[in-house]
Amino acid sequence: MGSPDVIVVGAGPAGLATAIALRLGGRDVRVLEKRKPPLDKACGEGIMPLGVARLKSLGVMPEESFSLEGIRYVTALGERVTARFPSGHLGLGVRRLALHAALAARAIEIGVEIQWGTEVKGFTGGALATSAGQQRAAWYVGADGLHSTLKDYVVGGAEVSGSDRKGRAQEGGSRQTFPLQTLPPKETARRRIADSLRQTAAQGLTACVRLTNAKPRPERYGLRQHFLTAPWSPYIEVYWHESCEAYVTPVSPGCIGVALLFSERPASFAGLLSHFPELERRLRGLAPASEVRGSGPLWQPRTRRVRHNVALVGDAAGYLDAITGEGLSLAFEEAHLLAEALQQDAWSGYALASQRLRRQPEAIIRALLVLQARPRLTARLLESLCASPSLFTHLVEMNCGLAEPWCVPLRGLLQAGVHLVRSASPPRGVAAPDGACSKGDSASSVPRERASGADAFEP
Ligand SMILES: Cc1cc2nc3c(=O)[nH]c(=O)nc-3n(C[C@H](O)[C@H](O)[C@H](O)COP(=O)(O)OP(=O)(O)OC[C@H]3O[C@@H](n4cnc5c(N)ncnc54)[C@H](O)[C@@H]3O)c2cc1C
Repeated sequence: MGSPDVIVVGAGPAGLATAIALRLGGRDVRVLEKRKPPLDKACGEGIMPLGVARLKSLGVMPEESFSLEGIRYVTALGERVTARFPSGHLGLGVRRLALHAALAARAIEIGVEIQWGTEVKGFTGGALATSAGQQRAAWYVGADGLHSTLKDYVVGGAEVSGSDRKGRAQEGGSRQTFPLQTLPPKETARRRIADSLRQTAAQGLTACVRLTNAKPRPERYGLRQHFLTAPWSPYIEVYWHESCEAYVTPVSPGCIGVALLFSERPASFAGLLSHFPELERRLRGLAPASEVRGSGPLWQPRTRRVRHNVALVGDAAGYLDAITGEGLSLAFEEAHLLAEALQQDAWSGYALASQRLRRQPEAIIRALLVLQARPRLTARLLESLCASPSLFTHLVEMNCGLAEPWCVPLRGLLQAGVHLVRSASPPRGVAAPDGACSKGDSASSVPRERASGADAFEP
């Protein structure tokens, strides 16, 4: 058995998509996966429009899936706001088992070698130590998920260079203070002010970086289960509660997936579901189509993505949260970027491309996690978004990479702002400005969308 050009560790969506993209670029690719098919995983199973397009470009189309037209948020008061994807763009709900089968079939079809049941245990001396012995290749891709083994190698190298940087900073520090003592007094005072301003700015920046890269406390987890029923909506529905969110994704004409993201522990699927009486009512009596599966803690620190001939893709390259349902789309896009980088003989260029790709989605996730820790504010913001569907639509499009942040609809922003200010002062119960959804004071109020027949598919 000769050495392939590339060994990909992990046959999850990121690993298989990367293997397919590399193979389509003419490389010999081997995938090592510690489990044996069928491979399942806790996931919301909604793929955003750009992820669907990338999947198609790889020649992958799952046998069973469900086209998704947009995203709908349901507040704790039962109010709802819906954003349709722009015309010509559809998302896809697809069970992990179906997605994995389609990816694996495509990979095998085009000549990717997959070694099932082969666990990678370490990376030493430029080779992988695996349960099937040592394996070598010219390049290695870590697509081994949240608890990646190859990430240890990539990060370990970063720690060494980190201490190098620290050493250099200390040298630089002594150089900085020395000339100050020899300068004339006026110059010294000006310099001191400039210096302290610079220092304050640097400290502020460091604090911001720490804050934005801070692990959410308490940590977040996910659970999912499937139910046999015809989907009641062509949207991914997100039900919001102050300690938990429920994501309902149609995955076939006869099945829906329900994923719960939460931070309370211990937690049971049924216990968490009781936070969403409307959803609980809908699911009552339905036959489960899968067992409950969990995953977490979700947050894994961002890392550098490339070290020498090793690159990380998908969750292995860092993961913040499933709150925006972008993980699969990012993984497929990174697969494409890595294959493109290798094609152009610019392997390390992938690091920057991946960093750019993740910048906006990660900023949105961080903002949502900050809000998640402030339930009252979030509840008010969601109510305001109900009053301003155009703003909600813009935020969803931005999250999917289909709109730029600066194209924000000013009217929508204004409507949401006015609503937010009004909702701060009693009495409440003002009619929603554009009638997108009704505003109620209590959980017993009937949301207009539902009253006008949102139970069935909308045109
Ligand atoms: C509750 C929940 C809901 C989510 N909802 C959505 C959603 O709606 N939409 C969306 O796009 N994303 C969602 N995500 C995120 C999405 O599931 C992940 O981003 C995606 O699975 C990442 O794929 P991956 O291939 O990087 O990792 P994984 O799917 O974890 O695959 C990694 C693979 O590597 C293998 N492996 C690990 N270690 C080794 C080793 N040492 N040797 C060999 N093989 C190894 C594993 O067995 C596994 O098969 C959700 C996640 C959670 C937890």
